[in-house]
Amino acid sequence: MTKRTYRFSSAPVDVYFDANFRQLEKLVDKKKGIIITDENIFSAHHSKFKNWNVITLKPGEQFKIQATADSVIEQLIALEADRQSVLIGVGGGVVTDLTGYVASIYMRGIRFGFVPTSMLAMVDASIGGKNGIDVGEYKNMVGIIRQPSFLFYDSSLLSTLPEKEWSNGFAEIIKHACILDRPMFKLLESTSLDKLRKKKSLLDDIIRRNVHLKSGVVKRDEFEQGDRKLLNFGHTLGHALETQYELTHGQAVALGMIFAGWLSAKLLGYKDLNRLETTIATYGLPTRASFDVEKVFNVLKMDKKRVSKTMNYILLSRTGKGEIVQIPVEDLRGYLTEFNALK
Ligand code: ADP
Ligand code: ZN
Repeated sequence: MTKRTYRFSSAPVDVYFDANFRQLEKLVDKKKGIIITDENIFSAHHSKFKNWNVITLKPGEQFKIQATADSVIEQLIALEADRQSVLIGVGGGVVTDLTGYVASIYMRGIRFGFVPTSMLAMVDASIGGKNGIDVGEYKNMVGIIRQPSFLFYDSSLLSTLPEKEWSNGFAEIIKHACILDRPMFKLLESTSLDKLRKKKSLLDDIIRRNVHLKSGVVKRDEFEQGDRKLLNFGHTLGHALETQYELTHGQAVALGMIFAGWLSAKLLGYKDLNRLETTIATYGLPTRASFDVEKVFNVLKMDKKRVSKTMNYILLSRTGKGEIVQIPVEDLRGYLTEFNALK
């Protein structure tokens, strides 16, 4: 287990890499810790939770809602959780988001940390302090930016991650490569999901590199005044598609990245659209889907990131270099129509 501390403007976060779940009790006293997890993770790793206080949630994004937070709060009261208690979210992004949110409001805020168990949570969701819940069809509509005290990485937990969950994490990894890290893009091009999964050392390296990349962006701009917006690459259209169609987050973001790549070629002379498509396909993600432009545009224009009549859209000037470009909301409708008509 190695430790590295990332100092954000609001608080430091201790990140433990190459850890083993059993070492968690070195960080948190079992009497003070309360683990929040979901039923899938609990049953897949049952023995690891022995002698810990555990609150188990139903799995799935549809439970990332206020009613679940209320139920967790009632269980915390029943467990007599107090200001000394530490909530530990052991799970994917749903569990970590909810844990950070509840910990931030229970008794006006208690300590919390994460043990991410999905690829997506490891490289993205658990990093950066955004915690929240969905409201109706609006994702992450309510929440708070508050850093966890620690992140704890045990990549052996991934051994039970369902097949279809892997590509969700890789969509975010490809995103990081596109906006910030050209060498990592080349590395992704040179290997494949299967190869990475079989080689723990390479997977650990990729995880560490992505934690470092995302933490760096968040460190420079914790409250999303500037650079942190880059992390929305592929997500504006992605979120709109995700709410309207039966797509995973990774699939929706992949399609969003292809659209942003296509628009980058048109507006900024980005030359690597073909490479982007090939890489996205290599990691089991879709590159084309036709959609109802009006329906999607109506959701897209309500995006939290909209500023009056223009949108901060994230494009690429080249692989490894994301740019924030202001696009009039009305122009986007035309671009979407043109993109949707491509074969
Ligand atoms: P995400 O991490 O993609 O944001 P979730 O928290 O919903 O979203 O996790 C995705 C799914 O994978 C959930 O059904 C969750 O129970 C399951 N899951 C996450 N990590 C593991 C794991 N290590 N082993 C088994 N199932 C897992
Ligand atoms: Zn995402």
